[in-house]
Amino acid sequence: MKKHNFNAGPSILPREAIEKSAEAILDFNGIGLSILEISHRSKEFDAVNIEAMALFTELLNIPDGYKVIFLGGGASTQFFTVPYNLLQKKAAYLVTGSWAKKASKEAKFFGEVQIVASSEDKNFTYVPKNFVIPTDADYFHITTNNTIFGTELKKDIDSPVTLVADMSSDIFSRPVDIAKYGLIYGGAQKNLAPAGLTFVIVKEEILGKVDRPIPTMVDYRTHIKNDSMFNTPPVFAIFTALQTLKWLKALGGVGEIQKKNIEKANYLYDAIDESKLFVATVPLEEDRSLMNVCFVMKEEYKELEKDFQTFSSERGMIGIKGHRDVGGFRASLYNALPLESVKALVSCMQEFEAKH
Ligand SMILES: *Cc1c(COP(=O)(O)O)cnc(C)c1O
Repeated sequence: MKKHNFNAGPSILPREAIEKSAEAILDFNGIGLSILEISHRSKEFDAVNIEAMALFTELLNIPDGYKVIFLGGGASTQFFTVPYNLLQKKAAYLVTGSWAKKASKEAKFFGEVQIVASSEDKNFTYVPKNFVIPTDADYFHITTNNTIFGTELKKDIDSPVTLVADMSSDIFSRPVDIAKYGLIYGGAQKNLAPAGLTFVIVKEEILGKVDRPIPTMVDYRTHIKNDSMFNTPPVFAIFTALQTLKWLKALGGVGEIQKKNIEKANYLYDAIDESKLFVATVPLEEDRSLMNVCFVMKEEYKELEKDFQTFSSERGMIGIKGHRDVGGFRASLYNALPLESVKALVSCMQEFEAKH
């Protein structure tokens, strides 16, 4: 039976990227050794690292003055690395979900944190609007896509202070106006690579402005200076990331993938909105994530949730169980997920509905 992979993360990757990675595990570039057993400083891997950084920069149209770095530690390590490097006195945070909340908590170790707005009052089912960004903050932190709750800030906002974004789950899903940001980071395991790789895009001029001493490994300048090779980077994950980026380029880049992502998400949200049984947890269309579609059974059909879980998994739907903080269902529609899988899920929902 064909499996449709709606996992939230780690999640679906382009088949080509997985095949190329499998080949490189057996024999990397025909050198007779596996990618898993060569030096990160070998000329073969150095070429991969350089190409991955270059393609990352090209596909996101990253302007001069910015640098892409590849690290370990996950997005969660960035929650404290960002304030370590940027928070002198005060930082501002927009709290739109659990990840944003965790990020703001870590910043408190370094200085004052002002929560500009939060949507926790309604279990993060919307994105706050009309908030005021304090002009005396060292930076303003946002989470562009809220993986758990299925909301997304789909436009690049204007900020009077350095804008910092966690883009773990929507990087490369749409064109981004990088010039509006000082720093963008994310774990790569949602839309780019296997787990283990963290990416950071940073405008060099925002660094070096805090008074505190910064340990070498958490100082972004260390990794900029060394092209992410100060210590051993996540070699294999970088290799797979490069394959994903090549796939994305061949497909036409982020502008093209955005069209596909909109088509996929609309297809599913329309089906949910028309359904008798299901309801989306995020009511406002403009706040709805294109990457993670969250929905539940309507109150009067709540007891059918377990049945649908079984029904859908018997038909090859993988990973649609909602996060425990939301319940119900979550279908993640990352770049590599084909429209065909969304159609299969919708057919499955309609078939289930016809039975009840
Ligand atoms: C998954 C996720 C994280 C956590 O990433 P790790 O790499 O596991 O630390 C942080 N932020 C967002 C938006 C995420 O989706």
